[in-house]
Amino acid sequence: MIGLAATRNQILIRNSVSFNILKRHKKKSREPKVTNSQRALEYFDIAYAPVYGTRWPSIRLALLSKPKYMAVLNNFASYDETIERFQNLGAWDIREKYSAIRERMRQRREQSQATSEDRDEDTDETSVRSNSVRPSLVELDDDELAARARLEPEGRYPEEYRLRAAAQNVDATGLEVDLASRVIAPSETGGSSLMMDYVPATRLKGLENWMEEADVFPDASQGDQDIGVTVVKQEEPIDLPKMLKIFAFEKGNISDFPQPRFDPQLRVLDHYAMDGASLLPVLALDVKPGDRVLDMCAAPGGKSLLVLQTLMPGLLVSNDVSEGRVKRIRSILKQFVPKGMSTIENLTVVTQNDGCRLGEAEEYDKILVDVPCLTDRHSLMDDDNSLFKTSRTKERLKLPELQSQLLVSALQALRPGGTVVYSTCTLSPLQNDGVVHLALSRIWQETTIECSVVDMSQAVRPLSFLYRFGGNLGLRYGQLILPSLLSNFGPMYCAKIKRIR
Ligand code: SAM
Repeated sequence: MIGLAATRNQILIRNSVSFNILKRHKKKSREPKVTNSQRALEYFDIAYAPVYGTRWPSIRLALLSKPKYMAVLNNFASYDETIERFQNLGAWDIREKYSAIRERMRQRREQSQATSEDRDEDTDETSVRSNSVRPSLVELDDDELAARARLEPEGRYPEEYRLRAAAQNVDATGLEVDLASRVIAPSETGGSSLMMDYVPATRLKGLENWMEEADVFPDASQGDQDIGVTVVKQEEPIDLPKMLKIFAFEKGNISDFPQPRFDPQLRVLDHYAMDGASLLPVLALDVKPGDRVLDMCAAPGGKSLLVLQTLMPGLLVSNDVSEGRVKRIRSILKQFVPKGMSTIENLTVVTQNDGCRLGEAEEYDKILVDVPCLTDRHSLMDDDNSLFKTSRTKERLKLPELQSQLLVSALQALRPGGTVVYSTCTLSPLQNDGVVHLALSRIWQETTIECSVVDMSQAVRPLSFLYRFGGNLGLRYGQLILPSLLSNFGPMYCAKIKRIR
C-alpha cells in the first residue's frame, strides 16, 4: 500500500514538473528567437551610428543589400574571349578609367601650377577662372558630389549624378564624429584590458562595468610624436600594376559577372569574382618586381591570388594559422595556376603558422596583415558561422588584442625599408585606427624598430570612381571604403606602415 501511495505521489509530482516544463517551453517558444545576425545588426546600430552619423543609415542599408563584385582575369588562362564578354555586358576595364582619370588629374595639377604662376603676375581673377579645368563628375568622391550638387544649379548635373549624390544622403553639417559617446569595456576575457569595442555610453543599460574609452585606452589620446610615429604623405596616386586586368560595373550598375569558365587546355578558371574593396590593400602594398611578400593571414587566398596576378613578387608566402583554411588556399591556387607552371609554383609557398610567432626574421619586403575581424557584412549574412554567436563572445572581444599582436609581429618580420599593410573588413574604429595606434605604441615602447605611417588620403583619390571613401571621418592612420548602394564594396580599412629602421 505504502509503495503504491508513494508511486501515486511520485506520478503526481512528475506530472506537475513536466506540466511546468511544458508551460515554460510553450512560453519560451512564443518569444521570437534573436538570431546571430540580428544581434550583430543591433550591435552595429549601437556602436556605429554615433561614429558614422548621418551616413549610418545608407551604410546600413548597403550592408544589408546585395554586395558588388569585381572580376579579376586570370593571367594563367586564356581570357581574350572573357574580355569581350565583359565588355558586351557593359563592364569597365578599370585600368582604362584609372589611366584617364590620372591623366586629367595631372593636367589639372599642371594647370593650377601655371595658374598660380599667372596669378603672381596678373591678379585678374576672370583670366584665372577661364583657364581652370573642372574635374569630370565620375572622378568626384560621392560626398564631394553631394556637396557640389547642393550648391550648383540643378541643370548642371545630369540626372544620374544627382541621384548618385542624393543616395549618399549626406548632410554636410552631420559629419562630425561623436567621439565623446564611445566607451569600451574593461577586461572580461583575461586578455589585455585595453581594447574591447566602441559602444555609446547611453545604450549600456545593465553593463555598469563598462568604462569610458579614455579610461581604458589612454594611449589613443596620445599624439603621434608620443609614440614615435611620423606621418608621411604619399603624393603620387596609388599604382595599378600593369598585369592586373580587372573589370567592374560603374557606380549604380548592379549587374553580375557570369560564372568563371574552365579553360580545358590549361585546366584553370578564366577569372574570379571578389569584393572589389579587396583590391585596395593589395594596391597599397605596392609590390615591386622581385619583392619577397608575406600574406600573413591569407586564407581563403583572394588577396594572395591578386598579389600573384601582378606577376611582380620574387616570393609569395601565403600563411594562415588554421589547417582547414590553409587547404582552401592550396585549392584556390590549384584552380588558378596551371599544374607544372614551374616559374609560378616555385615562387609560391603556402605555410601554416601562427602569425604572432614569426620571430624577428626581417626577411620580407612587403607584408599584408589582413586580420580576422568583426567581418561586418559576413556577420549580417551568415547566421551559422557568426562571431556574434554567444559561444564566440570571448573570441570576438579578444580580436583587437590578436590584431595588434599580428601587426607588431609583422613589423618585426619586415626588413628595414619594407612596407606593412594592415587591413580589416570592419567599420569598427577600434579594430582599425585603434589597433594601428596600439601596435605602434607597443613597437615604440618594446622594440628599437622605427616606423612611419604613410598617409594615403591623396594617393587613393583617383579611385573615387570606384569607391566611396570615408575621408572626413576623423581617420588618423588608414583609409576606409564605406559600403554604399551605388558601389556596394567593403567595408575595407587599410593602413600602410613603413619600417625605417
Ligand atoms: N586575406 C584573406 C583573403 O583575402 O582571402 C582573408 C583573411 S581572413 C579576414 C583572416 C584570416 O586570418 C583567417 O583565415 C584566419 O584563419 C587567419 N588567422 C587568424 N588568426 C591567425 C594567426 N594567429 N596567424 C595567422 N592567421 C590567422
